[in-house]
Amino acid sequence: MPEPWEQLRPGDLALLGLPSDEHSSFLRGAALAPPRIREVLYSGASNLSAENGIDLGSEARFRDLGDLDFEGTDTFRSIESAVGQVLARGASLLALGGDHALTYPLVKAFAAVHGPLEILHLDAHPDLYDVLDGDRYSHGCPFARIMEAGLARRLVQVGIRAMNPHQREQAARFGVEVHDMRGWRPDFRPDLTGPIYLSVDLDVLDPAFVPGVSHHEPGGLSTRELLGLIHRLEVPILGADIVEFNPARDPVGVTAAAAAKLLKEVAACMLAWNGEDRGAPGPGVS
Ligand code: MN
Ligand code: MN
Repeated sequence: MPEPWEQLRPGDLALLGLPSDEHSSFLRGAALAPPRIREVLYSGASNLSAENGIDLGSEARFRDLGDLDFEGTDTFRSIESAVGQVLARGASLLALGGDHALTYPLVKAFAAVHGPLEILHLDAHPDLYDVLDGDRYSHGCPFARIMEAGLARRLVQVGIRAMNPHQREQAARFGVEVHDMRGWRPDFRPDLTGPIYLSVDLDVLDPAFVPGVSHHEPGGLSTRELLGLIHRLEVPILGADIVEFNPARDPVGVTAAAAAKLLKEVAACMLAWNGEDRGAPGPGVS
């Protein structure tokens, strides 16, 4: 690791890569995402300034911890343990997947510190399967596991456009608040009390903007609509993940660029709140 978490201080934002796609149902490849996103982020193709004015390049609170090494370990347990260490130091966390299965151990670690969370989940898919292809920990199941374990006090989903009858039943059973794409308006702002955990599956975007995802689901958000949704949030973000980028389907690199842009914008929104009174609006964010 370039920077050990022992050096984290309260108010820091840790970036941590989670290179695992062992619970992907259809295509592998998401494990390649964290180094590819970093490569683009630090390539000089763009600068490190986010649109709210925070520059990750000169921001001492932005701490890139590198990628977890899952070799010979239980993936979920190493995530829980690493995230526990970050949170114990008062830092917040932005995790880079990997596939969406990893949100379950991530949320478990956050709930252990913060109690049941308010979660904003942006995705084409509700990921509420009880079991998918015989795997209860599939990337199609994380939010079923999260709700069963009582790790969320609210689950708000936006961008959904692949709801089937089984998952509709699951959503009703767990009281999930689903905002599907049919009702999307460009100025939509979810009604949140915060602070929240934010989980972004890149396939919430239309595949025209992010061809490098494992499941192409047309009819999604534009990059600008997604950024607008995030910029309009008026609640602090305790932790976040960006998952499901699949570099194996991204020969031109446009999806990597979208993921790196999203990383910058989410990180800067998180930093705008860190160290502030968590009940008041963040500084310098419009
Ligand atoms: Mn998805
Ligand atoms: Mn997903």
